[in-house]
Amino acid sequence: MTMPAHDADPATGLEHIRTRLALLRQLPPQVLLFEGGTESERLDLARWWASLLNCPHTNMTDAAKAASGFPCQSCPSCERIAQDCSLNVLLYDGRISNKEEEENTSGIRALTMDNVRALKARLRDAPHDAGKRAVILFGLDLSRLEAANALLKVLEEPSPTTVFVLLAAQRTQLLPTLVSRSWVVTLPWPDITIVEDTLLPWENALTAFLQAASLPQKHAPLKQWQDLTGAKGSVNTQLAAHIVLLCQKRLALAARPDENNLPPLANCLRDLPPHKRLHFLATLDKAQELLAFAVNPARILDWLAASFFAILRDDTATV
Ligand SMILES: [Zn+2]
Repeated sequence: MTMPAHDADPATGLEHIRTRLALLRQLPPQVLLFEGGTESERLDLARWWASLLNCPHTNMTDAAKAASGFPCQSCPSCERIAQDCSLNVLLYDGRISNKEEEENTSGIRALTMDNVRALKARLRDAPHDAGKRAVILFGLDLSRLEAANALLKVLEEPSPTTVFVLLAAQRTQLLPTLVSRSWVVTLPWPDITIVEDTLLPWENALTAFLQAASLPQKHAPLKQWQDLTGAKGSVNTQLAAHIVLLCQKRLALAARPDENNLPPLANCLRDLPPHKRLHFLATLDKAQELLAFAVNPARILDWLAASFFAILRDDTATV
């Protein structure tokens, strides 16, 4: 699949983050939180961090990397981590169900109460070899509070042999109690300024549609939007991914109280109550996930716009 185009900086930015993480190797924080970047960048960095804590050759590879203490990425330990089959790395995705976990051969587990309990029991055993156990958690959903609270208890018990890594697009998607226990690392935001001009008609159409959510009229002015998503062959996965990223950026801008001259979509998303903001973020995450599964990108954008509209209209309908 095609990923959003990045400018030259994110790669350098990630390298800089790796260098800083390498400095933490001797005394790793109990909980790291990676935000920003794309989901695959966050996941890759989490695996890299796990390799760093487990690779026995950290100081024996090529001179430049050895100097920075980077993992070798080629020993059995590093290879198992890259393939998600290391005994020391446990991955949990809050979005998958038990059934999906059974069918899933990749080693990624569901974040159910049963699995959290099993994790708790497992943490009492020593990790494999001389390395550290890394528990990587992503797709965390605030609506599954029971599992999140159980997880919190697990994180609270200091364990010298285990580190946790939380992954989220933005820290505001997580329980504040989880964030306050974390060492937060912000990955470079994928830079989309180059393509923003191309996205302007999309931003305007989406804004016009969403503005109607606060009006009493029954039918929303969808035409402008549907002219864009309905044009044959006009939407590919890359464009859709850029639109999703644009929405994420606008949502982040909308949360800055002193910002003037906001772009139209950010203006439209201003003063959202926190639960709606979270709902928007979750919807954007879902859209990103669907794009990775090669669902028709134009339909994903229609679904996104309709979901946004429904979230905004939610209480205007009951007032
Ligand atoms: Zn290695």
